[in-house]
Amino acid sequence: MAGCRFCGTVLSHTFVDLGMSPLCESFLTREQLNQMEPFYPLHAYVCARCFLVQVEEYVGPERIFDDYAYFSSYSDAWLRHAQSYTDMIVSRLSLDAQSHVVELGSNDGYLLQYFVARGVPALGVEPASNVAAAAVAKGIPTTTRLFGRETAKALVAEGKQADLIIGNNVLAQVTDLNGFVAGMKTLLKPGGVITMEFPHLLRLIDENQFDTIYHEHFSYFSLMVAQQIFAAHGLILFDVEELWTHGGSLRIYARHAEDTSRPTGPRVAALLAREKAAGLDRLERYSAFTEQVEETKRKLLQFLITARREGKTVAGYGAPGKGNTLLNYCGIRTDFVDYTVDRNPYKHGRFLPGTHIPIFDPEKIKETRPDYLLILPWNLKDEIMGQMAEIRTWGGQFVIPIPALEVQR
Ligand SMILES: [Zn+2]
Repeated sequence: MAGCRFCGTVLSHTFVDLGMSPLCESFLTREQLNQMEPFYPLHAYVCARCFLVQVEEYVGPERIFDDYAYFSSYSDAWLRHAQSYTDMIVSRLSLDAQSHVVELGSNDGYLLQYFVARGVPALGVEPASNVAAAAVAKGIPTTTRLFGRETAKALVAEGKQADLIIGNNVLAQVTDLNGFVAGMKTLLKPGGVITMEFPHLLRLIDENQFDTIYHEHFSYFSLMVAQQIFAAHGLILFDVEELWTHGGSLRIYARHAEDTSRPTGPRVAALLAREKAAGLDRLERYSAFTEQVEETKRKLLQFLITARREGKTVAGYGAPGKGNTLLNYCGIRTDFVDYTVDRNPYKHGRFLPGTHIPIFDPEKIKETRPDYLLILPWNLKDEIMGQMAEIRTWGGQFVIPIPALEVQR
């Protein structure tokens, strides 16, 4: 086993072992169903020294980002989140036409479009060429590069130093964590601010969100771990907010250690105290996670076995990465779930990795009228239950697998 991605300590403590799984964004074409499919161990460890939860990197980011299927703009709730963040931060930092905003992992420009609309100069840095092209087509300046120390130096040389650096759900996907954070230190103007959002490890543990663990997510952060990593690179976390996104995320605010103009707010110490009270500074809390995960699998399988024995039909909703972790770990294939649907046309006619469940347009639900709709992106369940309210007209019910199995009319 390799060393900790942050501190180098040899990893020997299991957080959870989810068995063998394919890359969760590798959607298959019909031709690929007849080919060999690579599976990799999905085994999360916790570092005994710094408590960073992490999975080993089996494939380089080039492979993962080459044909990345996730387009942020396909979720309405996510777009509203991006817009309200823009309103808040533009006002909080008094950003204007003289400012420069850089987003790392800017995807299809789902967020920067709101800065551009307000006349704040912005640049996206996005490694996946197909989503970067979608952003450029929308008029969002975007450079197709993987961010790190060298990219940061190059951007500074191009006069692109930032008043605000944004990174939403990107920190988890960074293989060279120290290089990435060091790069932000270089790219940030002296009085600048970094905000980053990432799923909160405390929520993952408390709410059993093991399906958010996948090969493309290398690291899982608590505030205490993030604070250590940023501090090691001369950056101070001066504020934190808790968000509803991705089942419970943190938005951290960082500044240069040398910048004394922004004192640390009370929310940082309060959340650190809660994490400590929850046991996140002790290995025992992490090793207890496995039993929770196994019980979730037993409950979901029990429900599906009963439903199928009663002759009921089950369809899935969504084809998110987390759905693939759940389905592969539980061994759920077309023997339990006939098909799934997704709003992203890229996925139509393709198949889920590993389980080979076919993906259709959401219209398919109305045609086939399933008894149960298994909501795979459970973090967006309210939005989805609203969109799919029609299933109630034929007596269909929603099944929400996480945090605890729930069946709703
Ligand atoms: Zn460590």
